[in-house]
Amino acid sequence: MGLLVVGSVAFDSVETPFGKVKDVLGGSATYFSTAASYFTDVQLVAVVGRDFPDKHIQFLKKRKIDISGLQKASGKTFRWKGKYDFDLNQAHTLDTQLNVFASFNPKLPETYRNTEYVFLANIDPVLQLQVLRQVIKPKLVACDTMNFWIEKKPKELKETLKYVDILTINEAEARELSKESNLVKAARQIMTFGPEVIIVKRGEYGALMFSDSGIFSAPAYPIESVFDPTGAGDSFAGGFMGYLSSVDNIDDANIRQAIIVGSVMASFDVEDFSLNRLKKLTNLEIENRYNEFKQLTFFEDL
Ligand code: AMP
Repeated sequence: MGLLVVGSVAFDSVETPFGKVKDVLGGSATYFSTAASYFTDVQLVAVVGRDFPDKHIQFLKKRKIDISGLQKASGKTFRWKGKYDFDLNQAHTLDTQLNVFASFNPKLPETYRNTEYVFLANIDPVLQLQVLRQVIKPKLVACDTMNFWIEKKPKELKETLKYVDILTINEAEARELSKESNLVKAARQIMTFGPEVIIVKRGEYGALMFSDSGIFSAPAYPIESVFDPTGAGDSFAGGFMGYLSSVDNIDDANIRQAIIVGSVMASFDVEDFSLNRLKKLTNLEIENRYNEFKQLTFFEDL
């Protein structure tokens, strides 16, 4: 089963208490597709500018990511500048330059239109819906967003959410979108917008899934050396959707496994800046960390 993603491909400039990087490879769709590529075939929809270097294209190709839907437009690539203080759960956006995304008109290659698994990574909700409308019969649609779009395009975001099955969202953004401070109430409120499943990402505290069948809680892997949390949410989503598309069976047990796979991918992402850690990951490392997660939450019956 293939997996289609639309989202940002970006140059990020990031500062954390442990160092800083300038104009490195980033973007929601980049992190997502790289993480997902360990599990399934990924089709990428995005746009970059003429300044986007060939070495990044070669990297995506090396991960066997289908980039026939990656347009190159005249203008500059999307740029994001962010900073984290010692509380690494909270990204502070210093600057967002949409650049080529401001006039992006996504047109799906014919080969993408039959894809059944779709991820609308963090980008303008208008673009998310435009892409989704071109997919003939999606089986599972998941979506992510952030405060930038909740504040700038609330109506458009609500329109997109009508067609979404699963929303992955940060804790603070879940509160902002629902206007509820209690997380359980926030998730229930967001469900009324469309998605049946809400996955709230809580940084170093893990993830909570809310659905009609109850609540599932996954821890985050206790990492000793977190360098840069950028992309953790997208890597989580990449592992989550990549796994579901590979098993092609969306039942509760598989969704729970997918949440742990997502947590595994996020835990690797934060170990280095940009995609440096995800780039050199092996399947064995993924498997081992999955088993460590199992151990982390195992306890005997009373
Ligand atoms: P996260 O997984 O939430 O840490 O996502 C980080 C990535 O999101 C960065 O690599 C940014 O390039 C990208 N990003 C930041 N702001 C936006 C935005 N407004 N729209 C789309 N992508 C963004």
